[in-house]
Amino acid sequence: MSDSYTFQTNLLHNNQKIDPATGAVSVPIQHASTFHQYDIDSFGQYDYARSGNPTREALEEVIAGLEGGCRGFAFASGMAAISTAFMLLSKDDHIVITEDVYGGTFRMVTQVLVRLGISHTFVDMTDLEAVKKAIQPNTKLFYVETPSNPTLKVTDIAAICDIAKEHGALTFVDNTFLTPQYQKPLTLGADIVLHSATKFLAGHSDVVAGLAVVKDPELAQKLYFLQNSFGSILGPQDSWLVLRGLKTLHVRLEHSSQAAHKLATFLNEHPLVKKVYYPGLPEHPQYDIQQKQASSAGAVLSFDLLNEDIMRTFVKHVKIPVFAVSLGAVESILSYPAKMSHAAMNVEDRNQRGITNSLLRLSVGLENVEDLMKDFSDALEKANQIHLIQK
Ligand SMILES: *Cc1c(COP(=O)(O)O)cnc(C)c1O
Repeated sequence: MSDSYTFQTNLLHNNQKIDPATGAVSVPIQHASTFHQYDIDSFGQYDYARSGNPTREALEEVIAGLEGGCRGFAFASGMAAISTAFMLLSKDDHIVITEDVYGGTFRMVTQVLVRLGISHTFVDMTDLEAVKKAIQPNTKLFYVETPSNPTLKVTDIAAICDIAKEHGALTFVDNTFLTPQYQKPLTLGADIVLHSATKFLAGHSDVVAGLAVVKDPELAQKLYFLQNSFGSILGPQDSWLVLRGLKTLHVRLEHSSQAAHKLATFLNEHPLVKKVYYPGLPEHPQYDIQQKQASSAGAVLSFDLLNEDIMRTFVKHVKIPVFAVSLGAVESILSYPAKMSHAAMNVEDRNQRGITNSLLRLSVGLENVEDLMKDFSDALEKANQIHLIQK
């Protein structure tokens, strides 16, 4: 990575631009699981592919550069990256964690880590007093996800990192929603950045992958030890797919974020929409924090329709987005959190978090935004005709 280039140019002009052996302009996919050693006393750079693979290393180096960390790690999924990072903790440690964390992380913390004697307290991380109150003498980690899913709450990363440092604890930030293009948690004081590269980084709904980037070399060595110990590494084919996806990250995310902003504004003014959740709207409660710590509000928004019947008719008639879990792809993806990402949560907890039976989440893709708005407008008009006009 060069300091004199912008993020956009660094996506393409990094150390992986040209393969030194052949001049190839795409990173070679190295399938070998083992490597011949020429000298009995000193082994080469690679010995066994779980411990190191050149294709995976290319990706690890690129993401480390983009996040501004000292070392990157590629895992078989976002959850593999997150779960491996949690293994930096030990029995009797305590985690302060954001209450609207990704469902898989929630499951790991509440059903696996507790079994290993690692406890946690869920807090609303937009409330710094609540965060301070949740601290225990054995708190070793603050776990942040911002903007959060699906109600796009924004946590002040620098403020949490300050609290963590005061307490001698680490801060992990799940940066899946904004990517280093728009938010760089390591520069705001975080120790580890985590990604589901399945989403925006790879960007084409065709690979499951996870990444971690560490700021400090000593901590990086510990995470490398765990990556090699658990072995939930990303394979060379999938590493290559993420590397290819990264080359177009800037154009994809910029288009999708601008379109998301337009759609959020459009939906915000629509009479059938009760509430829009998008940190790019000035009325968003943490708009100022978002402006301060990130350079865009991103490509994901949620909106609550007047009631469940209207939501159902809208989903039935909207044509462009796929109706599915996941986000961060070339195609727009419409999700229904109550029955998808948050199905395991009881109704009271869901409603208390704003995840009602009429809430939809939209990850905006690369379609023309006018086409999307027309599609949404038509589907809402259908719902209007069926549910409101008869009154
Ligand atoms: C999808 C997702 C994950 C999990 O990643 P996988 O690649 O599905 O394992 C973690 N955090 C966030 C914010 C996600 O959206």
